[in-house]
Amino acid sequence: MATPQVTCLRILVVEDDEPIAAALVSNLKRAGHAVDHVGDGVSADEALQGDRFDLTLLDLGLPRMDGFDVLTRMRHRGNHTPVLILSALDAVNDRIRGLDAGADDYIHKPFDMHELEARIRAVARRGLARSGDEIRGGRLCLKPRERSVSVDDQPIELAAREYGLLECLLLNRGRVMSKAQIQDRLCDWSEELSETAIELYVHRLRRKIDASVLTIRTVRGFGYLLQIPDEPN
Ligand code: CA
Repeated sequence: MATPQVTCLRILVVEDDEPIAAALVSNLKRAGHAVDHVGDGVSADEALQGDRFDLTLLDLGLPRMDGFDVLTRMRHRGNHTPVLILSALDAVNDRIRGLDAGADDYIHKPFDMHELEARIRAVARRGLARSGDEIRGGRLCLKPRERSVSVDDQPIELAAREYGLLECLLLNRGRVMSKAQIQDRLCDWSEELSETAIELYVHRLRRKIDASVLTIRTVRGFGYLLQIPDEPN
């Protein structure tokens, strides 16, 4: 069974060096991610308590609270969001300490954006597999490891692309996903996927998850938005 591919992540960049942060944010946005940035440890600590991120890129030397404390505090709260440490080339001890404190991986500064993207994908995939577990929304439950979907514990049969589409929308809940982003996500299974084909998958998926109380809204001219009752959009 193929490992789920992850694109379009919600990423928190924690970095006090403005030029590095600006380059990271613009590159990651260009790669299709939703990116938020904070420049100190206390703001990072608050952001991680208030919002759900798929990945945190964490600098260690930060004003107000250092990166180790941010990491230790989030892990103590039971927050298992994958963390990628942004570390200086010669800071071996920092990296070891960071990994011991619960980071998933690290990358040296200055970094190559392609390498960073590859590490982000790997860490996010591991996070998804580890979370494990399951992704819930409304009455629907998706289990990435088993690639299974159920509504009220009743299994639902989905074709591979319908599953990929649902996973993509669930991981990006509350965000409008363009057809191009969805296409990107489903490229695992097909290099060529027309907009009409995506419309067809959305149509089928809507029918199949009808009982889940999830709604896939068409945002005309933009794409699709998964709405879950009782969750803010
Ligand atoms: Ca720093």
